[in-house]
Parts: sequence; C-alpha cells; structure tokens
Amino acid sequence: MPRILIVECMQEVSSFNPVPSDYDFFAIDRGDAMLAQRGRNTGLGGALSVFDAVPGLELVPTISARAGSAGLLCAAGWAQLSAEVLEAVKAGLHGIDGIYVSLHGAMGAEGELDPEGHLLTEIRRMAGPDMPIAISLDLHGILTERMIRQVDAIAIYHTYPHVDFADTGARAARLLLRLMQGGQRPVIARAVIPALVRGDELITRTGFYGSLIRECQRLERDGTALSAGIMIGNPFTDVPELCSQVVIVTDGDESTARAEAERLAAEFWPGRHRMQGKLIALDRAIAQAKGISGPVAFTDAADATSSGATGDSNVILKGLQAAGYPGRVLAQIVDPGAAAAAHKAGVGAQIDVTLGGAMDPGRFTPMPVRATVKLLSDGMARLETMKQALTAGPTAVLCYDQTTVVVMSRSVSLFDRAMYYANGLDPRDFDLVMIKSPHAEYHMYDQWVEANFNIDAPGATSADLKSLGHTICARPMYPLDEGVTFTPQAVLYSRAR
Ligand SMILES: [Zn+2]
Repeated sequence: MPRILIVECMQEVSSFNPVPSDYDFFAIDRGDAMLAQRGRNTGLGGALSVFDAVPGLELVPTISARAGSAGLLCAAGWAQLSAEVLEAVKAGLHGIDGIYVSLHGAMGAEGELDPEGHLLTEIRRMAGPDMPIAISLDLHGILTERMIRQVDAIAIYHTYPHVDFADTGARAARLLLRLMQGGQRPVIARAVIPALVRGDELITRTGFYGSLIRECQRLERDGTALSAGIMIGNPFTDVPELCSQVVIVTDGDESTARAEAERLAAEFWPGRHRMQGKLIALDRAIAQAKGISGPVAFTDAADATSSGATGDSNVILKGLQAAGYPGRVLAQIVDPGAAAAAHKAGVGAQIDVTLGGAMDPGRFTPMPVRATVKLLSDGMARLETMKQALTAGPTAVLCYDQTTVVVMSRSVSLFDRAMYYANGLDPRDFDLVMIKSPHAEYHMYDQWVEANFNIDAPGATSADLKSLGHTICARPMYPLDEGVTFTPQAVLYSRAR
C-alpha cells in the first residue's frame, strides 16, 4: 500500500514592508486537520482529490503552515516555524513512498533568504536520495537552484489572477504518483530571465504572459513535458535569486527540456517592456473620475496586502478628500488603533480617530477624521475563490463625508470582495471603490466599472519597481538597470537514481 507524506508551508513577503512578520502570523494545522482542505480550491485540496482517488493509498498528513503576505519573517519566527515543520516531517517519514510539498515560493526570513530551499534540503536529507518529492508553487514564487536540486517534479500555477490552485496541486500529485511507479527520469530545465514584470499584460486571460502560459499548458497536454511553467517571482521579495524563469520538466528528454525553456525565455524577453505597471497620477485620476457617471475603481497596488504591503496607506483617501471628490467612496485600510477605538465607542458613536499611517510611517502619515461607527465585526471572512479564512481581527465600518472605510486590525488578502461582503457592504452600491491589489478576477470589478485607474502611489509593493530600492537580487535586472541584455540559456537538473 503506497504511503504519501504531505506537508505545506506558504507565505509571500515584501522586503520593503518595514513591519516584520512572526510565527503567530501562520495558521498551523497538524495531522488530520490538514485534510479539511479536501474540496477546497487550494494546492493541497487539489492534491488530496488525486490521492483520494487511488485505492489503498495511505496519506500521512504532517503539518500545514499558511500565512498571509507580510513583511520579512523575523529570525525567531523562522527558527520556530522551520523547526516545527521539519520535526513534523521527521515524525511522519517511516515507511513513506513519496512526498508532496505544497509551497508558495516567495518566503523570506531574517537570516534565511531561501526558506523553501532550506526546508527542501532538510526534507531531502531526512528522506534520502531515492525518495520521490513533488512540489507545487505559485508563479510569484522564487524557485532557487537549491530548491530544484532537492525535488523530482514541480507544478506551477498557470493562471493570474490565480484560480487554478487546486489544479496545480492535482498536477503535482499526479506527477508524484507517476514517479512512485518508477521508470521515469525527470529532467528539469530552468532558464533564468533577468526581468521583473508587473501590469495588466500578466493577466493570463488577456495578456501577453497568458499567451506564453498557454504554450506551457500545450506542452503538458500533448505530453512533450511532464510539467511546464513560467515563474515571474514576487518583485517585492528582494532575495538573491529573484528573477523571472521558465521551468520545463520532461521525462529524460534533455534536449527538448532545454529547447523549450530557451524558446519560451526568448519569447518572454521582448515582452518585458509591455509587462510593466502603467500608472496614473492620483490628481489626474480623480479629475477624470469626477467626469465619469458610472462606477469607477481605484487600484492601490502599491499597498497590496496580498503582495506583502502593510495595507495602511491613506494616500488615495487623502487625495479624494483634498480634491472634494463628490461621489460615494468605499475603501479598506489596516489600522488597529482606529478599529479598537470604534469597538470601544460602539455602533452609532461619532469618534475622532486617525486612519492609516500607523504601520509604514516612512511612507504614510496619519489622517485625522471625525467618523461614525456604522458596523462592528470580528473581521472573519472567507476568500471568494479559495474559501480560505481571513482573520482581520476586530474590524469596524467607519463613515465620514461620503466615504465608507472598512478598518481592519490585521492585514489580510484584499484581492477579492470578501472583506467588503463580510462587513455588509456591496461595492456596486458605491461610485468609487478602492482595491488594494494589483488585480482581482475580472467579474469582481472590471466587468462592471466604467474605468479602473491604477494609481501611482507610494507603497511597499509599488509597480514602480525602481522606486523600491532593491539591494539583494542579482543585477543587472530589468527594469532596475539600464541596458540589460539577455541570451536564453537553460541549465539542466536531474536527480539520477
Ligand atoms: Zn501569486
């Protein structure tokens, strides 16, 4: 009876967020509690759907650690987290035939800039050289050489905005099952591209990046590759191997793996100019929005909590107030002090508080408002697509002028409408909706707003990548440096058995 060990460790950090994250940012599930992801649109949920369909297969769930995006993980937090993950794996290894590791890939910790590489190295060391290991990764992850050397197979998201979490986990699980049957000799070709990319052309349904991803999907579908993907990294995770990269896995066919990786890297490179954020100045966006009769969205991707920013930017709220924007505005902000003041005062009370500027004081300053407490909540919600829990802590809906703000105590992902809905608010009831994420799924906003303005604002996840101040990633790197040149060259990796 085959036995498969499963383990999960996921976080995405922004090195430019001044607030470090800690162990308690992680939701930890141990043993059978991991199986609650069955049926969910997550990597692990998808993998479980494949494993569950194999008669007699025995699962050994060890530990799942998932954190929202945030600043760099502090050294003590990483020490505790890594120790617990590796302890749990060690305890489950007896009699195991294969290992599935569910990763994001864009972790970063104080003193360890390749956390996933460390975990995989230790798992490989404990499991031995012959143990099949398959991993799944977010396309925003940073796949390092150290990681590649430990694994036999890799499955990477094929959609942005992401909707194929479960599909990716299922692909990793199927690869693992094939490896466990033996007879395969996976070859991984990796072509590193010295470019960081952002912007609408990354939307796989409509953008340039999507046209290349469809080639990856074709290679998988027609059997040319066991797995194919293009990772673009999280440009805000300033680590040594931050880059874009094509990853092709074939069954022993070195020349095809190399050729396809180099071909797709060559096709990616000239698209780098298109794949940059196109930002509009705030005053110009407000002036245009005033003349639009239908609803509009203001995208504040520079403060995208799902990419690791603090979520406490009030720059757009200040701009709207200063410009006397006349419409009904809906926004979200992280401000534990204001949320606490609202909870203390109670529904219906009028309070004088400041909004924002509490966590990233180098970029934002507090904004004083006299607001009415409209609603109080526990900050619990569920992501629309993944159905994962959001825990924003004590949360309040505050109203001032024509503006309604969901004030959260803790940063959570804001790439869908979950926190609005959970607090009794429908974005369609407003003239201007703020989105603290570079993109949401099409139907959520873009389908019904007249215009979506991508605002040029400061923040730890600004699409103006040159404004951030990378100091660690390999250089030269487009667009951080001028005159970057590129010749596609794949490196091959194989774990010979
Ligand atoms: Zn991602």
